[in-house]
Amino acid sequence: MANIELRVLGGGHEVGRSAIALGVSGRYLLLDYGVNFNEEDIPQFPLHIRPSLIDGVVLTHAHLDHIGAAPLIYSSMKVPTITSKLTKTLIRIMIEDFLRISGYYIPYEVNELDLLLENTIDLDLGNSIDLGNYRITLLNAGHIPGSSMALVETDACSILYTGDINSIETKLVKPVDKNVRADVVIIEATYGNTLHPPRDYVEREFINSIKEVIESGGNVLIPVFSLGRAQEVLSVIYQYMPYSNVYYDGMVRQISGILVSYPEYINMYGLLVKAVNTFNMVRSSGERRRILKERGVIIVASAGMLKGGPAQYYAKHLSSDSRNGIFLVSYQAKGTPGRRLLEYGVLNDDNKHVKAKVLWFDFSSHADYKGLIDLITNINNLHDIVVVHTNEDVGSEFVGRLRELNGGWRVHYPGNGESINITI
Ligand SMILES: [Zn+2]
Ligand SMILES: [Zn+2]
Repeated sequence: MANIELRVLGGGHEVGRSAIALGVSGRYLLLDYGVNFNEEDIPQFPLHIRPSLIDGVVLTHAHLDHIGAAPLIYSSMKVPTITSKLTKTLIRIMIEDFLRISGYYIPYEVNELDLLLENTIDLDLGNSIDLGNYRITLLNAGHIPGSSMALVETDACSILYTGDINSIETKLVKPVDKNVRADVVIIEATYGNTLHPPRDYVEREFINSIKEVIESGGNVLIPVFSLGRAQEVLSVIYQYMPYSNVYYDGMVRQISGILVSYPEYINMYGLLVKAVNTFNMVRSSGERRRILKERGVIIVASAGMLKGGPAQYYAKHLSSDSRNGIFLVSYQAKGTPGRRLLEYGVLNDDNKHVKAKVLWFDFSSHADYKGLIDLITNINNLHDIVVVHTNEDVGSEFVGRLRELNGGWRVHYPGNGESINITI
């Protein structure tokens, strides 16, 4: 018989800020340690855990909502962090950018980031490592390049922590690994009450809408998250429109440069390399101004929710011409300029109406309801399901559906600060 404790330090009844302490006999393994942002854009950190109680940290992928608080552990301790090789490379660039933008609110500095990376052991997907009471195996999560799920095994039981997962194949990543054996799954449920349309349908709609704008003499701006969505969008455009006039700008440039050096993590690697090499990287602010004078261009630029970055600059200049298009391709959080643009058709606080065509496309990198259920029902030997990384209402609906399915599981839906004890 095994007793395990799961302490939810973040990501309980909320999307992001993932942080779970998994405890056996009073020693903990920290599964992600991320941040969220409030409506004023101030980073929100997870609950504290005494670093001296931790044997190690697993970071599933390089999004800030999974890694943003991890350097904090290194203010007082040097424990090993386990992550994939690509995620290790991306952690530096993501946290340095976070420090640059939000440094005033962050209780650590670049020194702690250096210590984190010095103590990071990179592990190929599919490989295992022993750490304290635990054996940790990283599995493909299908979410973004480098992303992993962590299978944590002790003498008596096994726990699958999904991090963020996607169950469909995209140009960029292969779908999540299935048929895992685990007693407990800690699963994200960002889209636990949604069904996404098929990806090839979304891609075609997206391309047709771009063509319409270009053919009518307009320009298209596609604001993107610089890690993942940007490279997927570039690959999709290259596949359908290889001869189009495409520019990419912002942190997209740096991250695309990194991803093309890691072929083993990219599903359609050749396509990405061609897109990155053929399309134009914007090199200066002078070039930015010049691009805006051209017609028929496609601009792929960060940030994805129009919070800063060159996308904001382009959007301001393209918004007043009805021939142009601003196509959003990711989740738009409440209070962001992207959400305001979608809901009210305005860009700035002056409430001036945007004339450009504004559209949103469902390029999700998270599994939908069907994908989540499919993963769960393919886990062998499952007893307990712990639902995290989902907002209050979506999570409740998902938990309700899981209970209706009556699969013989115990379903837990803990909030932040709650601990659950599982006996197997
Ligand atoms: Zn996340
Ligand atoms: Zn993520």
